[in-house]
Amino acid sequence: MTTSEGYSIKLPLSCPLVINGEEGAATGGKQFTRENPADTRQVATVAAQGSLEDVQSAIDASRTAFDSNTGNWIYNYKLREQVLFRTAQLIRENAQRLAQVVSLEVGMPIRQATPHVAVAADIFEFYGGLAGKLYGESFTLPNGSMINLVKEPIGVVGLITPWNFPLTQTARKLAPALAAGCTVVIKPASYTPAAAYELVKLMHQTAIPKGVVNLAPGPGVVVGAEIVNSKKVDKISFTGETGTGKDIAARAAREVKRVSLELGGKAPYVIFDDADVEAAARAAIFGMFRNAGQACGATTRLLVQEGIHQRFLNRVVELTRKLEVGAPTRPSTDMGPLVSRSQERVVQDFIKYGLDTGFDLVTGGHKLRGNGFDNGYYVEPTIFDGVDNASKLGQEEIFGPVVAVTSFKDENEAVELANAVDFGLVAGVWSSNYPRAMRVARRIRAGTVWIWDNYAQPVEGIWGGYKQSGIGRELGYYGLEDFMEVKQIFTDGTGLAMKPSYGQVIKE
Ligand code: NDP
Repeated sequence: MTTSEGYSIKLPLSCPLVINGEEGAATGGKQFTRENPADTRQVATVAAQGSLEDVQSAIDASRTAFDSNTGNWIYNYKLREQVLFRTAQLIRENAQRLAQVVSLEVGMPIRQATPHVAVAADIFEFYGGLAGKLYGESFTLPNGSMINLVKEPIGVVGLITPWNFPLTQTARKLAPALAAGCTVVIKPASYTPAAAYELVKLMHQTAIPKGVVNLAPGPGVVVGAEIVNSKKVDKISFTGETGTGKDIAARAAREVKRVSLELGGKAPYVIFDDADVEAAARAAIFGMFRNAGQACGATTRLLVQEGIHQRFLNRVVELTRKLEVGAPTRPSTDMGPLVSRSQERVVQDFIKYGLDTGFDLVTGGHKLRGNGFDNGYYVEPTIFDGVDNASKLGQEEIFGPVVAVTSFKDENEAVELANAVDFGLVAGVWSSNYPRAMRVARRIRAGTVWIWDNYAQPVEGIWGGYKQSGIGRELGYYGLEDFMEVKQIFTDGTGLAMKPSYGQVIKE
């Protein structure tokens, strides 16, 4: 056992299977390891490599828990409230450990991982508050018959999560699913299994009935695929790449399985000539380089009006050059490493493409070497100016610290450029002319548009995409509705044995 420098947690972390409240090894004892992305000589996590049989057991446990209404889980909203509030409390009590686990597995600077944990607690609390407020509707017809519309949990839900914000991504699915009365199987991303396990472990310190939350780490193509294919799973809530999401949606459609998809983005950030340069530049930096740009809502395209272009870019470049890239453990670090060798390669390929295409590299562009960087996946924050929006740099999700800058002449061109991508997750607008900012916000086809801010994600709001950025919404009340069915219960109020409508079939 070693302690990673700067962290107080003992390594390696673990992630067993959790089925029916019991922790266990995978069939045949198979395991996989996750390296520390900031120092690849170190093993961060050793996780159980779930097999087909293992994930089927996890699905069976969820199915049985739901079908038997274990602990009266479906109807006892007070129990669900209690579990969710207690989870929030436990997250807060263990915040330092959780932040270190996230920081370690993702490579996220501790300064970003710490508020990330606090957000996860807020999410549990928010849905704890809603668990007992799932009112239905009632309507009386003129003949006295009554329609009752009741909300019911969808059933067994497969939660398939990505690696970039492992606690909040899991919390955004898990908390509303439980508030609704569902049971779940969580399939965590293979780069961040321990973060999900730590959360599940805390949940099992609450009064949650066994079998309500099950955890199945293992390869997406085995464990994730079985959750999608299984007839015993009623819904999939997936966050990840658009390609994986399309495949999941196609397979789920065969069983008419409910699907929510939170997929990729290519967020435009529109800056008009009359924008507050300082505020807009700072907000841009936050959106561009938070978690090294590995965020679905990352600011990836700066669309800047011609008159302000150079002034705005100069300020953004100046702020970018001041960013401290380094070990995630250091409290002063602004940007850490990328999550993996393959992500590093993807980012470097985009940089090479930008250079080969002749776009203007205004800052960054290199893998960092020496000075403690050699054993981690560190790439400089990088900005290209003069990017053609129709090019690969303007169109494809990079998921790294590489940003494309493009000029526009007027409002119409800004909206056209903003919308000229397959994605529609988030966008930003900066203009001191509020009616214009609002007009543009309405015309951009995205699930969230920020005016005078960037990457604000209040739990009371929503998160989700237009176009190929997804289907459904997370957070807020909409995020809860995604885990519920509405049932109509119709009760006759006439007392007639021969109702007028029966006459269509029965003569007397
Ligand atoms: P992936 O699509 O590669 O993986 C996401 C999850 O799906 C992982 O748990 C993965 O398992 C699993 N998986 C992989 N293949 C399958 C399969 N065939 N069937 C079922 N499950 C499968 O995405 P990343 O983890 O690389 O995450 C990054 C992506 O997530 C980016 O595109 C980003 O935009 C998107 N994202 C979207 C957000 C949103 O809210 N819209 C938020 C955050 C990220 P394994 O890890 O074992 O491969």
